[in-house]
Amino acid sequence: RVISAAPASPNEEAIERALRPKGLQDYVGQAKAREQLEIFIGAAKQRAEALDHVLLFGPPGLGKTTLSHIIANELGVNLRQTSGPVLEKPKDLAAILTNLEKNDVLFIDEIHRLSPVVEEILYPALEDYQIDIMIGEGPAARSIKLDLQPFTLVGATTRAGMLTNPLRDRFGIVARLEFYTHEELARIVTRSASLLNVPADDAGALEIARRSRGTPRIANRLLRRVRDYAQVKGDGRITAALADKALKMLDVDPLGFDVMDRKLLEAVIHRFDGGPVGLDNVAAAIGEESGTIEDVIEPYLIQQGFLQRTPRGRVATAAAWRHLGLVPPAAPAA
Ligand code: ADP
Repeated sequence: RVISAAPASPNEEAIERALRPKGLQDYVGQAKAREQLEIFIGAAKQRAEALDHVLLFGPPGLGKTTLSHIIANELGVNLRQTSGPVLEKPKDLAAILTNLEKNDVLFIDEIHRLSPVVEEILYPALEDYQIDIMIGEGPAARSIKLDLQPFTLVGATTRAGMLTNPLRDRFGIVARLEFYTHEELARIVTRSASLLNVPADDAGALEIARRSRGTPRIANRLLRRVRDYAQVKGDGRITAALADKALKMLDVDPLGFDVMDRKLLEAVIHRFDGGPVGLDNVAAAIGEESGTIEDVIEPYLIQQGFLQRTPRGRVATAAAWRHLGLVPPAAPAA
């Protein structure tokens, strides 16, 4: 898959870091989350206290990592970054927690993938800034309580529903990130283009924005591919016409759907008569993991009204049939 919202490779990480806005003021869109955070960050700063724990959820590439960095910046504290699958043992987490300074931010990406034993030691840390750790082994082993500095956990997940209830209950601030509008993405593309020193006119930026699946990470990725195209096939400048040609070459269609999006819609329509069809059957038909379909591919198709999740399975809407150049069935399949 050429352009996906999947997390960045180490190579791309550096570029993403460079394009990341540093303050809330530069963070485009997400008005609701931004307003909440502005108030709670301001209040925590006035009281010189740790900000309440924050849960950020939404599809990949919408700015959860970026927002966690901004929270730490705005609070004027350090950020420690880790992820659920990396924390294998309780001592991995204990080592990080005991090294936090007063009011620091700990960012745990993919927090739904914490192992239960690690999650267990997180509870008292979140609640009372304390952890219980085991010292020694065998009969001499004993548990001791350690006090931690007050800190803020920022947890990120693609689906809030995948968190255990006790963990979810410990977040005082919960923000759901939404797909971005074309205008918001165009602002992000314009900003990134100027940081990368690529001349892009407004129409060119908007063309990239319209085809970025509502996702800043994809917008930035497409911008870099279009820049390459402009350099080799054009005079280096990004216009709407040039962006259109480059994106066609990348198999990004006029609505921004990529190869996997179309594969999914085609499978539901051609192999399952438009649905309803269960997720596992769709996954088998297109050779993709069901988790990836749910987290990465489906959310945008659903938000755009091309796919529906019903109790009996996935259903392609009339818009999906038409987008593939087909006539929708007279009576909707659902
Ligand atoms: P997530 O953690 O949700 O997968 P990231 O925070 O890593 O997403 O965002 C991916 C990229 O998109 C970042 O490099 C950042 O430059 C850009 N980005 C995300 N959200 C915004 C935003 N609101 N404004 C500007 N750029 C953004």
